[in-house]
Amino acid sequence: MIDSHCHLTYPPLASQLDAVLSRAASAGVERMITIGTKIDDARQAVELCRRHSNIRAAVGIHPHHAAESAPDDIAALEALQRDPNVLALGEMGLDYHYDFSPRARQRELFVAQLELAKKAGCPIVIHCREALDDCMAILKDFPTLRAVFHCFTGTAPEARRILDAGYLIGLTGVVTFKRSDELRQVAGFIPDDRLLLETDAPYLAPEPHRKQRVNEPALVVHTAAAVAWVRNVSVEEIDRITSANALQFLDWK
Ligand SMILES: [Zn+2]
Ligand SMILES: [Zn+2]
Repeated sequence: MIDSHCHLTYPPLASQLDAVLSRAASAGVERMITIGTKIDDARQAVELCRRHSNIRAAVGIHPHHAAESAPDDIAALEALQRDPNVLALGEMGLDYHYDFSPRARQRELFVAQLELAKKAGCPIVIHCREALDDCMAILKDFPTLRAVFHCFTGTAPEARRILDAGYLIGLTGVVTFKRSDELRQVAGFIPDDRLLLETDAPYLAPEPHRKQRVNEPALVVHTAAAVAWVRNVSVEEIDRITSANALQFLDWK
């Protein structure tokens, strides 16, 4: 199984990484994508890949960090993207839920990273929260980019818009939460070739661990089980489909 989106550089995962990785291996989670969310974090993510052959990175500037990002960050990102361990740019996008950065600045930085992805010809990881109209409007200018909307938690019509535009959808442990009926409905209709699984660890631990512990890649199996259940297929089948999608999307050889 592949955890297509986690933050292994974040506390408390970073300080207990050996234990985290051995629990992942025991759970059958063989590969992981760790996501850098600002320049120093992205550097650490790339470093981490050098020490672990089953981990690759995506590097980007998260919309939360848009306000604090420096003018030369895009050049730094471009240099990092050339590292063979970096398979995608992101997460990047818009977050109008928390609004930690001014929206105009979020949009500006999103566009700058999309330009970079277009130049580099690499796939992108999108973080989009309560901002789908603006995200889609911006993406219209980049029709050739391959993208995943990670940690999708929107409505069924929103999921259909993303799928109709040709993008992938990443599902987290939120799909296991009691209140997530509409998200489970979404998990039921995403086509086989558009579905990725992720933890977004250390956040969003799935049920039955939601209240008790920090999330980590090993727990992606609970998300896989929930998705398998709504799609009425085996966990092995979900593993097969989503692992193949992740490898293909990221061109991970
Ligand atoms: Zn995110
Ligand atoms: Zn994330």
